[in-house]
Amino acid sequence: MEFIYTETTNYPALLVPEAPAAEKVVGITTTVPIEIIFAAGLVPVDLNNIFITDDDPSWLVEKAESTGLPRNNCAWIKGIFSATKKLGIKKVIGVIEGDCSNTYALMEVLGSEGIEVIPFKYPYGRDRRLLLLQLEALAQALGTTMDRAEGVKKELNRIRGLVHEIDRLTHEEGKVTGEENHIWNVSCSDMMGNPVLFEQKARAFLEEARERPPIPHKVRLGFIGVPPICGGIYSLLEELGVHVAFNEIQRQFSMPYPTNDLVEQYLLYTYPYDIEGRMRDIKEEVKRRHIHGLIHYIQSFCFRNIYDTLFRKGLGLPMLTLECDRPGGVDGQMRTRIEAFVEMLRKNIV
Ligand code: SF4
Repeated sequence: MEFIYTETTNYPALLVPEAPAAEKVVGITTTVPIEIIFAAGLVPVDLNNIFITDDDPSWLVEKAESTGLPRNNCAWIKGIFSATKKLGIKKVIGVIEGDCSNTYALMEVLGSEGIEVIPFKYPYGRDRRLLLLQLEALAQALGTTMDRAEGVKKELNRIRGLVHEIDRLTHEEGKVTGEENHIWNVSCSDMMGNPVLFEQKARAFLEEARERPPIPHKVRLGFIGVPPICGGIYSLLEELGVHVAFNEIQRQFSMPYPTNDLVEQYLLYTYPYDIEGRMRDIKEEVKRRHIHGLIHYIQSFCFRNIYDTLFRKGLGLPMLTLECDRPGGVDGQMRTRIEAFVEMLRKNIV
């Protein structure tokens, strides 16, 4: 099993030095309660991260298409499919409610190829009782208990606290770039499959970042929506003197609110539930972080794109919507739109 996150031009990523034994690996397609996976002695691997940090993520998308997945479907789904096959993953947790309707079908495709699929749901309406049942069912399917998972939560709380500090250094002290913030937050989904190593790396990063001078900037942007599939947006913004001080969904992967147990933690996690919860969180953070404008990233063929209209109506802040289909860089048209947006914000800042 090849399992190493690498530095790529598409996305710089954190490194995972060792390949876990294949039978220990559980592929995940989005943030799920990793406390339960670790409590079972297993290793979560976020297939999104494997896909996007591959040497050639576009090839993984094409490979999925060549096996029959439609061209007019989300490229993340196709990348996840190919990453699962490439790594020879035997077990995948699929979130079949609260994440993505495409995942439902993807799980059936993976199941048809002999991969064990364990379903998990974030219940509609944030139903506490139903979520507890889901957590218990997952614990049972993986051969562990909720008590053990709650113990793991305490350990992970400490490690997540380091990522919250990285986030604070981003928006309060301006010592961490928007892209670094993005990477640390998205990496919370699986903690590189190795929380001990993740903690060491986070501590080392914090030590280095605290010594930096603040990043000079005039414009402060927030990034909302699913993590972008195309690279280069953050570096272009930096080049334009913009500080990305808020990564909405990525921050959610770090479980940013203090909670007493797993049910509470995964009820407060905004991403899988209604838009109202996300909107509340965005409004609070925009205020706290002194954000001048927002970039709403939308993924081609994603049902979440419909929310763009609600964000425009409800957030009351200048917003640029950017859409990408496949892995790659920022094209000329996107660059021009970003530059014009930043220029408009700059002129409006007194
Ligand atoms: S971007 Fe949208 S369609 Fe694609 S996997 Fe994520 S939720 Fe699903």
